[in-house]
Amino acid sequence: MADTECKIDILSMTPEEISDYLKGEPRFRAGQIFKWLSSGTDFDGMTNIPASLRQRLKDECIIKTPRVKKKLSSKLDGTIKYLFELYDGVCVEAVYMVYQHGNTLCVSSQAGCRMGCKFCASTKAGLLRSLSASEILGEILAAEADTGTRISNVVMMGMGEPLDNFDGTVRFLQLVSHPDGKNIGLRHISVSTCGIVPRIYDLAKLDLPITLSISLHASNNDSRSAIMPINLSYPIEKLLAACRDYFAATGRRISFEYTLIAGKNDSFSAADELASKLKSSMTEEDGTYMPVHVNLIPLNHVDGSSMSRPDKNRVNAFRDRLISRGINATVRRRLGPDIDAACGQLRLRESESE
Ligand code: SAH
Repeated sequence: MADTECKIDILSMTPEEISDYLKGEPRFRAGQIFKWLSSGTDFDGMTNIPASLRQRLKDECIIKTPRVKKKLSSKLDGTIKYLFELYDGVCVEAVYMVYQHGNTLCVSSQAGCRMGCKFCASTKAGLLRSLSASEILGEILAAEADTGTRISNVVMMGMGEPLDNFDGTVRFLQLVSHPDGKNIGLRHISVSTCGIVPRIYDLAKLDLPITLSISLHASNNDSRSAIMPINLSYPIEKLLAACRDYFAATGRRISFEYTLIAGKNDSFSAADELASKLKSSMTEEDGTYMPVHVNLIPLNHVDGSSMSRPDKNRVNAFRDRLISRGINATVRRRLGPDIDAACGQLRLRESESE
């Protein structure tokens, strides 16, 4: 591993960076290599690259595409949960989902997480490390190779907090949307965050047409702080102010995620409080309107946790209450119910069995 550690992480590089690294080679080579890498090809498969250059790349570089360590396939709807092993043995999860609008991959941005949300399996053992842009991109390449399909949509809703790996995330977005690479439009990519407010302002400055999803999960600071420690640093008011700034800078509708936990945040009074908070932050004094959408996620059970999901009637009633208060809300469809495992759970179970 010492050897691979000091090799050049070429899958994280833009064509311009590859060109700088290759100095002395014709300029078009960098573009050729970038295209090959983005199609999931290793150095031996780069047939239009001279053998001597391929050998140099093999000696000096590493392609950090993960390996499929384990996979669970749903017989009901084609969903596949992957446990990927990275070059150094660290494992992360990704989920492949088939939708009418295209195949979607839910990718991890970190191995583990240090945000400490009480209902989330990914954070239970803390943060191991952040993923490089190549490793996040590599999740897509590995899933495409395994399924033989093209992925057209990406959600950064797997393990980890994307904005706690800001540089890796932004570089990944740049690479995956590159016209000479995978060319997945940024409009087809969602980035989900628990609300690291300063990084939301940083992201707004980049003006990327991604969809920003905010994990809200509560209607007031007391109940949010009880399940999400990040709220102690960046309370709801500060978070919603950052969302308004984000919308003003990018013009992109914000999506709020709200995980429904029985007896904790699923009452009508919570729905009313949520609706009034979102409505007042949607409407500026000057009359500007910020469109929002609430995505309700019935809690996925996490091993060892006493929290549970409300029943279906309660979930639908909560949605209808939000709608009746003028908030656009939907319940997330549950994919792959036969391979049920909340995000982070597959890795947790695997490490416990080892
Ligand atoms: N760190 C990012 C991405 C995390 S996972 C974030 O916080 O947004 C994506 C979503 O799944 C988040 O909204 C997260 O809060 C939610 N989630 C985590 N564990 C869950 C569980 N057990 N049941 C339902 N949703 C969960």
